[in-house]
Amino acid sequence: MIKLAKWIHSKINKTSQPLTREAIDAYQLVKLREIIDFCREKSPFYCRHLKGFSGKQIATLEDLSDFPFTTSQDIRDNSLQFLCVSQDEIQRVVTLQTSGTTGNPKRLYFTRQDLELSIDFFAHAMSDFVHAGEKVLILLPGEKPNSVGDLIAKGLERIQVKGLIHGPVRDPARTAEEIKSQQPACLIGIPTQVLRLARTQHIPRGIIRNVILTTDYVPIAIVSALEKIWGCQVFNHYGMTEMGLGGGVECGVGYGVRGSRFGVRGEKMSLSPHLLPLPPLHLREADLHVEVIDPDTGEAKPDGELAEIVFTTLTRNGMPLIRYRTGDIARFLPEPCHCGTVLKRLERVQGRLDNRGQIGADILSMADLDEALFPIPNLLDFQAVMTEESALQIFLYVKNNSPDSQTLTQVQDALRRIPSLSNMTSAGLEIRIDFSKTNRHNTGAEKRVIRKGHSEAPF
Ligand SMILES: [Zn+2]
Repeated sequence: MIKLAKWIHSKINKTSQPLTREAIDAYQLVKLREIIDFCREKSPFYCRHLKGFSGKQIATLEDLSDFPFTTSQDIRDNSLQFLCVSQDEIQRVVTLQTSGTTGNPKRLYFTRQDLELSIDFFAHAMSDFVHAGEKVLILLPGEKPNSVGDLIAKGLERIQVKGLIHGPVRDPARTAEEIKSQQPACLIGIPTQVLRLARTQHIPRGIIRNVILTTDYVPIAIVSALEKIWGCQVFNHYGMTEMGLGGGVECGVGYGVRGSRFGVRGEKMSLSPHLLPLPPLHLREADLHVEVIDPDTGEAKPDGELAEIVFTTLTRNGMPLIRYRTGDIARFLPEPCHCGTVLKRLERVQGRLDNRGQIGADILSMADLDEALFPIPNLLDFQAVMTEESALQIFLYVKNNSPDSQTLTQVQDALRRIPSLSNMTSAGLEIRIDFSKTNRHNTGAEKRVIRKGHSEAPF
């Protein structure tokens, strides 16, 4: 059994009885009742928000669907009113500023106990990927106490693994030097930044065994490129600040199944990545109850259907969230996992609801562009803008900053193969491709989106 599942077992059930799905559901039901009562009593926001629901009790997990959602806007408008504790008990405040949105930033508050839950999660989630005595290079912000990099390093320390906080990749040559001198068995980083590192620097195969990609959509095209270049295994961690940073991690055991079809060690791929079964994630089900709902109607979707992820925190103290709408699209997979766990399997997140361009019935997502363009070997990054005059402008950042006609042809071919984009061009959408001349690149501080508006060069 994977170590993450053992940890969840130990949190849910102190006996040596095998963990069952029924035991997890029963535990979550008790925790949901507790957290709803706690929020009603302590949080001014939820006291108002749940006013009409004061008599409601949750007899089954399905009854949670009677309760209202919490949105990103609710947090922006009322962040302090979410608090269930006094401000003196808050150890860390995370402020999230989203580009293109006006008004208040989103603030999330954590107590010492909340941060401890995150550290404990990172310790156990990482123990499936690294062993005592090894090193992990953390390519995420970690300078501030209790920032994500710092919490991961604290978690690693508990399993006798050295977490080296490097920060986001700003200078790939310097990051490569650190990898060669420190020899970390594992990297944790932002997908496009790690790709850039792999495509621009020579790092001998055999140093990096595992790469964990996080903070944004993880394109299969990037996973495949990293596996090929470094001969490593690549896993997806899903989480967000609102979840308490850690959410879930791809099943390490399921990898063997994927690897055999995935062309893992640089072998030739026999199938298009789009046709491959996607590796599932297991969630920290002792701390989070996750639902998948229809974004238009708000109704629960059955396992197997793609829809929006909504979660409720079960164990958070400072700022618990009830039915928080993430805007992320994914689905639960009904079949049991190869690792033998009873934890649910969440398919890799497919992108975001607000991250799409639409013309008529045709929808183009950033994920479509990522999967089409990142297989191009010379490409390091790109940005896409849907302009007001019905054009899709794509700015490409390529290796050595040297655009060539072969890359341009590859980009045009790749775009032509996206069905929704073909329909859009038939309907009059113009595609403009520009190579970026400057050396600025995505710092990873924001999620990559198809922006709307003007077509100025973003790099
Ligand atoms: Zn599994």
